[in-house]
Amino acid sequence: MQDLDELLNIDKNSIWHPYSAMSSDLPVYHVASAAGVRLKLSNGQELIDGMSSWWSVIHGYNHAKMNLALEQQLKDMAHVMFGGLTHTPAIKLTEQLIAITPDSLDAIFYSDSGSVAVEVAMKMAIQYWHAKGDAKRQRFISLRSGYHGDTLGAMSVCDPETGMHSLFSGVLPEQIFIQQPQCRFGEPCTANDISELKKALIEHGEDCAALIMEPIVQGAGGMWFYSADYVKQARKLCDEHNVLLIFDEIATGFGRTGKLFACEHAAVVPDIMCIGKALTGGYLSLAATITTKDIHVTIDSGDPGVFMHGPTFMANPLACSAALTSIRLLLDSNWQENINRIQQSLEEGLAPCRQLAQVNDVRILGGIGVVELKVPVDMKTIVPQFVEAGVWLRPFGKLIYVMPPYIICREDLDKLSKAIVTIVSGIQI
Ligand SMILES: *Cc1c(COP(=O)(O)O)cnc(C)c1O
Repeated sequence: MQDLDELLNIDKNSIWHPYSAMSSDLPVYHVASAAGVRLKLSNGQELIDGMSSWWSVIHGYNHAKMNLALEQQLKDMAHVMFGGLTHTPAIKLTEQLIAITPDSLDAIFYSDSGSVAVEVAMKMAIQYWHAKGDAKRQRFISLRSGYHGDTLGAMSVCDPETGMHSLFSGVLPEQIFIQQPQCRFGEPCTANDISELKKALIEHGEDCAALIMEPIVQGAGGMWFYSADYVKQARKLCDEHNVLLIFDEIATGFGRTGKLFACEHAAVVPDIMCIGKALTGGYLSLAATITTKDIHVTIDSGDPGVFMHGPTFMANPLACSAALTSIRLLLDSNWQENINRIQQSLEEGLAPCRQLAQVNDVRILGGIGVVELKVPVDMKTIVPQFVEAGVWLRPFGKLIYVMPPYIICREDLDKLSKAIVTIVSGIQI
């Protein structure tokens, strides 16, 4: 076998990593294996995973029951096309998802990544209005600091600045952006918070297919937790203006915020909901767009009489059985207790950050902890410091955040918090 340096050299010369330059001198760490909440690097070092591999690995790595389910599914089939064929893993998963998502959501479109689930949601909204004879409704209202994925359609509803819309201005559809809600989670929202949405709906409502938002928690666009009140008002206003409401629960779904889905904090049901990330417990790439009977029946009744999307790996059987097993594991576990435990421990562990001159804000909700700094971190120095401290974190901009696997123990949580407090207090400002 090639030695590690040789492998890393190939990586450095020929592979892109997320949002990176190939010529970058930022380190990438070679993972040999992972188990529970630990990543084992090839140099022998073990890191406590604070990221759940971007929200997804909620039960930890190398989980015996997950592994077994996949081994069993492999014996039947790894994959089969979904055009004209079907299989039990997809049907069982559908039954399970319909049971746990809000009541009126009962039709599912499977795709292979969150970004595509968002594309599908946007196309559903457009086809819906087309079928209703209101084909001019093709635009979307979106919140600033939102993140919905990296494909062109999804990008068009991401924050225009962090999403670098200027660079893609010729190809991205121009959507309508409103200020992110200023009202914090747990607080009421003011007339001011909601006024931009009202204005956007009055001015552009008739051309809009839908409002798309991440309910309660804005993820990669800013790690911001906002008032359930805003979500309620958004539903009301969308109804008044006949605009569909899309919830992107790709990051928030499956318990992360303390509810199975974040929209439950507001008791609001969207017309279309996107899920992904933790759907398979981080085992395989799978996402889904879930909608109401009204929407799928209307789309079917319109021209061309079908919904215009169909990925090659749609409802991949291995991914569906991973998802089904992961959801059963979640429902059979004390996930709410685990999330409460993580929340409490992060509250205590990150509290010292509130006193630090380097820190602007500390916010914690469910299994998510965020330390917002006054200045952007230097990735080149801070990531190696975390690695040195035995934890895996990947900050961006001014944000250092943790969202560990739900199974993490108190001791490991304390180590994560301590590493953050120590390293943040050492940042020069
Ligand atoms: C990660 C994410 C996406 C994109 O999902 P991918 O699987 O990376 O394409 C979309 N929306 C939200 C809220 C996300 O967190």
